[in-house]
Amino acid sequence: MPFQAIVHASELLTGDGIRRKDGRRVTQSDLGRIADGALVYQTKKIANREVPSRIEWVGRTVDLPKKWKKIPRLDLKGKKALSPGLVDCHTHLIFAGDRSEEFSSRCGGTSYEEIAKNGGGILSTVTATRAASEAELVRLGSSRLREVYRRGVRTVEIKSGYGLTFESELKILRVISILQKKFPQMRLSATYLGAHAIPSDVDRRDYIQEMILRSIPEIQSKKLAESCDVFVDAGYFTREEGREILLAAKKYGLRAKIHADEMTNTESATLATEVGALSADHLLKVSDQGIQSLAQSGTVAVLLPGTAFYLKAPQAPARRLIDQGVRVALATDFNPGTFMCLSLPAVMTIAGLYLGMTCAEIFAAVTYNGARALGLSEHKGTLEPGMDADFWVLPFEKFEESYYRFAW
Ligand SMILES: [Zn+2]
Repeated sequence: MPFQAIVHASELLTGDGIRRKDGRRVTQSDLGRIADGALVYQTKKIANREVPSRIEWVGRTVDLPKKWKKIPRLDLKGKKALSPGLVDCHTHLIFAGDRSEEFSSRCGGTSYEEIAKNGGGILSTVTATRAASEAELVRLGSSRLREVYRRGVRTVEIKSGYGLTFESELKILRVISILQKKFPQMRLSATYLGAHAIPSDVDRRDYIQEMILRSIPEIQSKKLAESCDVFVDAGYFTREEGREILLAAKKYGLRAKIHADEMTNTESATLATEVGALSADHLLKVSDQGIQSLAQSGTVAVLLPGTAFYLKAPQAPARRLIDQGVRVALATDFNPGTFMCLSLPAVMTIAGLYLGMTCAEIFAAVTYNGARALGLSEHKGTLEPGMDADFWVLPFEKFEESYYRFAW
């Protein structure tokens, strides 16, 4: 089996303490910082490409066992740090169309209501995405994934949700599975978000019934998604509709996720814990009861501070969540309307400044807790022997620099 080594990392962060605490109440000492670190990993061939597969050994370069001294090695010469590959556990990466004019008019003071009235907003993205061919969406997705990879992300969740018909939602999910074959160096996790909005031309009950009776079974039989997400909010789906859709999805083996308590409080964080969801995402308006339910459950709170920043909205109560013992992950929420940014490190900067998160909390939020929000933390999120060899060679000497420098 082919092995490779990375040696003389200025610092190597294993994150092993975060795994031991299962992502709650993490502190600096949980990062497992090793000065002058080294890593040995196995590789495997996928589609004629040699890609990292499993971590074999982690430690100080000086302690590298003799048997690994002759294998191919990458010497970082003390100039670059090494961390677990980042996990972006909430994106809407597949869409077509352009909403830059809408953004600039919003900056000029135009309201969302006016933009929607003029044919902008989510519906313009839905129209463009329905019209786009599979090949066009693969091309757009590929260039976005290359950008995501460059910023250290090795695992990325991608939601459908800009099709809102049986056929076009399946098209988006097929695009994600094509992209997974094209990018064996990354792990893509597909989420079905047919319940992103009620399409304007369809009866509400008919649409929900179609998702439950037709889309979800088809997605499961073709293995096109791992999770199912519902936008539970005023003007979108109710708590009860959310529960109905997610319980149906669970019957077909899809894990649950919820866009929860974003614009109004609907107690959907509590709903997430009741249906055993992997994550409750957004949480700008989460109640004390919601925080308590999250703290006592396995559900991860996924915070998306870039979106609140972009909307100039008050941020989620990250400190209260973390201090109450909730596992918190951070993600970009990359989407054409409310966060047109693929940089998870930029989101980390916003989280440090506006959520008051410490370096250890930010690190855990984009590694182990992100993996946990996708149900992948058994194999991902830390640099330890036996884990998947998802690592990131930073273009910096220290991890902190990755978010101290803004929008690099
Ligand atoms: Zn979202």
